Amino acid sequence: MPYDIEQHLPLVQENEYGGVNPPISDSATFTFHDPDRLKASFGHDAPPGCFLYARATTPTAQHLAAALARLEGTEAAHVTASGMGAIVATLLQRVNPGEEIVASHTIYGGTWALLANFFPRLGIKTHFADFQDLHAVESLMSENTAVLYCESLSNPLLRLPDLPSIAALAHRAQAMLVVDNTFTPLLISPARLGADVVIHSLTKFINGASDCVGGVTCGPAEFIDSLSDPSHGAAMLLGAVLDSLRAQGIYKNLATLEIRMRRHSENARFIAERLAEKGLAVTYPGLENHPEHKRFIALANPGFGAGGILALDVGDASRADALMRYLQQAGVGHLAVSLGFHHTLFSPSGSSTSSEIPPEIQERIGLTPGLIRFSIGLDPDIGATWGRFASCLAKIGLD
Ligand code: PLP
Repeated sequence: MPYDIEQHLPLVQENEYGGVNPPISDSATFTFHDPDRLKASFGHDAPPGCFLYARATTPTAQHLAAALARLEGTEAAHVTASGMGAIVATLLQRVNPGEEIVASHTIYGGTWALLANFFPRLGIKTHFADFQDLHAVESLMSENTAVLYCESLSNPLLRLPDLPSIAALAHRAQAMLVVDNTFTPLLISPARLGADVVIHSLTKFINGASDCVGGVTCGPAEFIDSLSDPSHGAAMLLGAVLDSLRAQGIYKNLATLEIRMRRHSENARFIAERLAEKGLAVTYPGLENHPEHKRFIALANPGFGAGGILALDVGDASRADALMRYLQQAGVGHLAVSLGFHHTLFSPSGSSTSSEIPPEIQERIGLTPGLIRFSIGLDPDIGATWGRFASCLAKIGLD
């Protein structure tokens, strides 16, 4: 079914004399007319549409959550103070001590550290697998498997799992498939491909302004409601709540996501093609030599391109450092972690956002010391940017 582009736009508000944007809810707590309704909101029969306390949710957070649920095609969504806040709450809501997670071995370093280092303290074990190898994933699953976890386009190696087949594996075992779609909002719709829950770091493309952190969990209404249950909800009890002011800012930026994603994709493709023409080791799902290029075309929503992220391996860490210094001096972008900003951002993944992954594992999964991850910006004249980029490459002998 083709992606309905109308889907991602926040709904038009129909309130005469009301603002065109939802108001910023400026309250930590909310009034009730009746003590019975207040008491009921702590139980299973919470009155629909009533607000209790801002750590559960707020009217502004609800506007943002509803728009993100529409974006991902899920019944509901819950917004959090960061992407990690969404990941932790989602996994702890679903996985009990003694149960296990099978996760892709190429994922964001913070998520890798959470699963490998932190969750074992809570009695939750994670097996890491190459998600391109369905047999490897299946062989690590058991009756204890509660969750399969991967990223739609993995950070930083840009591998794309066969999501419908992974979903089938998960569902055969009554496990939940959780997909982090941070790199590919609009481009890939994991829930339409079988994922049960879709997560984003809103910090990245969805907000696009690099001015705050935020996260979201999108999924079935029952699961999403359970996250903010006063007695058992991981989001409610762990407390990573998104402030209304930030929720409203992200909501407004969501309206331009479609335009931004198309431009990020156009610009990244342009740079990726130029790098490939020079015979450099560039990874980009829009290039035919990408290992999952055909799968990307088959699974992606048409019309949004192949995204704003590319990886370039320049051979070794000192060359990578030299190139990043030259690129920053030449105004190509910022040497900074994160992604999805209007300016190009670049960082050496193995020693920054994936440094939590030990060197021997990095080597095994193909994360090389010379790899630079680029989040290509919204430059109006990408040809001129390429001219500056190429002169920096020449300075390190790659011309
Ligand atoms: N998921 C991915 C793919 C990421 O790249 C990141 C951060 O870089 C996160 C999750 C965590 O998001 P946040 O920094 O908003 O907590």
